[in-house]
Amino acid sequence: MARSLAGQRLVVASHNAGKVREIEDLLSPFGVETVGAATVDLPEPVEDGDSYAANALIKARAATAATGMVALSDDSGLSVAALGGAPGIYSARWADGARDFAKAMRRVEDELAGHSDRTAAFICCLALAWPDDHTEVFRGEVGGHLVWPPRGDRGFGYDPMFMPDARDDDLTFGELPPEEKHAISHRADAFRKLVAACFA
Ligand code: IMP
Repeated sequence: MARSLAGQRLVVASHNAGKVREIEDLLSPFGVETVGAATVDLPEPVEDGDSYAANALIKARAATAATGMVALSDDSGLSVAALGGAPGIYSARWADGARDFAKAMRRVEDELAGHSDRTAAFICCLALAWPDDHTEVFRGEVGGHLVWPPRGDRGFGYDPMFMPDARDDDLTFGELPPEEKHAISHRADAFRKLVAACFA
């Protein structure tokens, strides 16, 4: 049985402004007060887990230990079928720590040369950690295809080269308005599970 988050004050354990914005958008209907990385001094723990869930827990546990608040973290990435799931948990590292996504997308495209299978999925694990060591993890996923060249300047990260399967048009996540990305994204999928468990 998951713990209720109703009326909680949460610290969003991320230094990634794109993620924090999406998480705050997704949380806004639930009356949860969020405290961003800008207002508290959040640690940047070494993410040396071997899965999204393990890395999300490392970040959430470090943030709750530093602040004494319930912490919500997100570990996510792009999994490309023809590349055996890469870049996966190394998605930020392919961009030199989330700085250079033009370079990261180019690397994905270069490594896909000669492959006809361009299917990919974004995966997200959300972790919650309480100061008494209680934790919860929720996993979400969205399937799609990679396009080249990248299109659109919305979203963040690999969004401009990811075309979700769930839509009839051929817009990438980089071209979609935020609310349309939120309707189908991996983060929203994980979020739906969190909401069902923690706001029921
Ligand atoms: P993390 O901060 O270690 O979880 O890094 C996640 C990385 O995965 C981000 O820096 C992006 O490269 C990528 N990523 C995760 N979610 C998204 C998304 O919604 N759109 C585009 N890229 C994403």
